[in-house]
Amino acid sequence: MRAVDVIKKKRFGGELDEAELAGFVRAATDGSWPDYQLSALLMAVCFQGMTPAETANYTRLMTRSGKVLDLSDIPGVKVDKHSTGGVGDKISLILAPLAAACGVVVPMMSGRGLGHTGGTLDKLESIPGFRVNLSEAEFRTVLQKVGIGMIGQTAEVAPSDKKLYALRDVTGTVECVPLITGSILSKKLAEGISALVMDVKCGKGAFMKNRKDAKILAEMIVRVGTLNGLKVEAVITSMEAPLGRAVGNTLEVVESIETLQGKGPKDIEELSVVLTAAMVRLAGKAATDEAAAVLVRQALASGAALEKFRQMVSAQGGDPKIVENFTLLPTAPDRSAIVADAAGFIGGMDAEAVGIAAMHLGAGREKSEDKVDHAVGVMVRKKPGEAVAKGEPVFEIHHRGGKGLQAAEWLLKGAYIVGATAPTLDPLVLEVVT
Ligand code: URA
Repeated sequence: MRAVDVIKKKRFGGELDEAELAGFVRAATDGSWPDYQLSALLMAVCFQGMTPAETANYTRLMTRSGKVLDLSDIPGVKVDKHSTGGVGDKISLILAPLAAACGVVVPMMSGRGLGHTGGTLDKLESIPGFRVNLSEAEFRTVLQKVGIGMIGQTAEVAPSDKKLYALRDVTGTVECVPLITGSILSKKLAEGISALVMDVKCGKGAFMKNRKDAKILAEMIVRVGTLNGLKVEAVITSMEAPLGRAVGNTLEVVESIETLQGKGPKDIEELSVVLTAAMVRLAGKAATDEAAAVLVRQALASGAALEKFRQMVSAQGGDPKIVENFTLLPTAPDRSAIVADAAGFIGGMDAEAVGIAAMHLGAGREKSEDKVDHAVGVMVRKKPGEAVAKGEPVFEIHHRGGKGLQAAEWLLKGAYIVGATAPTLDPLVLEVVT
């Protein structure tokens, strides 16, 4: 099979068969096609798409390009959650211990932040000593002992995705439904889980900017996951404004712990309960979402989920005292504020601009090799729908010696609008796709 023939077939709208897809995925793994041919095929897929059956084959081959964990010796149903990425999205840090406290085993492999979106691994690494690069044996031990493990994707998991994602990042081929589906699901199928809850973000701060595109992605993920033997449900949720108030790694860890202490922002608590309840139901611990939500709320109110978080931090080498003492976490030395230039109600917020502002401060990466500063970020002091007086802070900037401050201030000044009346806000959960 010649790479050029496969590229041409897709370019003219053909459906790639198993052998052609296998050739492409093998080439991404062993380097037998040059980058320009891999990239050309990625671009052809962006223009021509893939059928669900083709995407399911592509996903299965990507999964099998590397190691697939077998966790059947660890008792309990294994369920994970994955988000397509947003701003202030620290739900995994709350949901994983909540689900574990309800008896679900959560083997979570997460990613790092890129561009305006944050990553779970960067947030966890703001905890002194916390290790996200556990060996498989260590990961198994943590799962056995605590019921949750939160690690990074190892080099052995879906290596074809590592190569293709890096190429997509520099060839303008990230936003493409079959490629996103294959990329996300190949890694999740390799975790050895039996069910997955997908949080498909929709809005200014997400990959999918509108409801129609979010629904197409959600439906493809559910269909392809199901074709690969995984129980998958997708929840389409709003990403117009940042989730919660904290954007930046340490700031988000603090907000997550506060939520586990029952003192978190309402939107964070609501979304954590909805998504965890779906996991608890898929694990067979409750028959309905309502019954599952009761269990989840009990785990929150009793402190059982907070205790699971503390155990996980300790089991992965972190300092568990951070749960009571936030001063043990890194703190940015400097503060600045963006104040409202008129009185009224916050009418809307540009989550993407807030995410990019945090990235300029050093909380995120422009390029995958950039280092992050765990301490810096943005606190949203006034969220959409809240009243604000002239001169009151809308954003509080946590920075280090002015690094990235000018760009962040410029972005944040344009990242909100003030209206005379309270706006009607979209619900956080827009739709469930099963
Ligand atoms: N997250 C992934 O892992 N892959 C994508 O393609 C997009 C988001």
